[in-house]
Amino acid sequence: MATSLQPVADGVHLASLAPLSMFNSVVLDGPDGDIVIDSGPAWSGKRLARLLRGRDVGRHVVTHAHGDHVGSSAWLCSHTGAPLAMSQIEADDFERGSIAYHAGLSGRLIVPRMTRQRRHVDQRLTEGDQVGSFTVLPQPGHSPGLLAFWRESDRVLIVGDGPTNISNDPTSPRWMKLPASWHHDPAGAVESRRHLAELEPELIVSTHGRPVRGVDRWLDGIRNHAH
Ligand SMILES: [Zn+2]
Repeated sequence: MATSLQPVADGVHLASLAPLSMFNSVVLDGPDGDIVIDSGPAWSGKRLARLLRGRDVGRHVVTHAHGDHVGSSAWLCSHTGAPLAMSQIEADDFERGSIAYHAGLSGRLIVPRMTRQRRHVDQRLTEGDQVGSFTVLPQPGHSPGLLAFWRESDRVLIVGDGPTNISNDPTSPRWMKLPASWHHDPAGAVESRRHLAELEPELIVSTHGRPVRGVDRWLDGIRNHAH
């Protein structure tokens, strides 16, 4: 597992929080401090602190309120003083603690437990908002308010979901099989991914797994893997 931030695109770094990059944060350089996207499960705090040492975190943004993406968010915001931003669709539920957005029982039982602490949401994001040099796009399906972040200038797409590539070579992905029942709306999740693929991203960076280069390779993963 990488012991430092991995640069993946201009001003974009992957902070790997688990083996095979199963959980990641994505760090964006910004003029008003770094933006940290997602915080991994509840046990990521120590590792995140090490990876972010010496950096000034100005804002924490999450793709969606599933426990493996917001698990250390309350800790990160209190540790850095950064405000928390997430989808306006999920913010109230996160504050109340009800984030079991999964079609199947296994997801509803396992994933919410990866978040123990809650926190006030400072900013509710909607389509077209800016996150650094990226634009917020809705990607409903995997969760009701899932957000993607798109930068047209170099066609970089940041997502908070699968398909999950476990190969270190972005031009030769290997996909991990995960159950479709871990989506809130399995058909909607696939449809949203296909919709994003129409943007023709060059590089897809996810907070699950390693980056993928080339929209055709990403589409291959979407076609062959339900999650
Ligand atoms: Zn999720």
